Amino acid sequence: MPKTKATDPGSPRAPRSRAVTSPPERPFWQAKALAEMSPVEWESLCDGCGRCCMLKIEDEDTGEVHLTRLSCKLLDLGSCRCKDYPNRHAEVPDCLKLDLAKVQSLAWLPHTCAYRALSEGRDLAWWHPLVSGDPETVHQAGISVREWATPESPAKLRSMERYLIVDWEEMDQV
Ligand code: SF4
Ligand code: SF4
Repeated sequence: MPKTKATDPGSPRAPRSRAVTSPPERPFWQAKALAEMSPVEWESLCDGCGRCCMLKIEDEDTGEVHLTRLSCKLLDLGSCRCKDYPNRHAEVPDCLKLDLAKVQSLAWLPHTCAYRALSEGRDLAWWHPLVSGDPETVHQAGISVREWATPESPAKLRSMERYLIVDWEEMDQV
């Protein structure tokens, strides 16, 4: 009968080599709070939907703000980006500079807006260019204003109510 040799349970064993893989790095919008983002990261969060560049009507009685289908004169309706973003305030003095406080307080900021989504603890959607890697997906998913916005004009401004977005709630739940 072959002899068996008991191994010492307490004896050290040579370590087995094993490939150590580090966990995948989380994208900055998941790893950081909005308040911690660099200016470049902050700007890159804008998905280019153009929704916040629609003209708005404020109800004098309730203070409620409603968006219209009329687009700001600086909005390029092809790309849904501002035609002169760095100098926009020279031509459109009331254009807002979004910051964290405004993101948290502006009720009219679209539900789909990346800043609003992150401030509410939601992640970016699949169609966001940072997720898809393609600036066209925000248009393909029907999030941008490309298909339905119309440029402002003096004549249209005289009858702005005609351009109110009445089914915004439905559009907002995309
Ligand atoms: S609604 Fe938000 S994501 Fe869309 S253009 Fe405005 S800031 Fe950018
Ligand atoms: S000035 Fe540019 S960023 Fe401001 S509302 Fe008009 S298109 Fe949008």
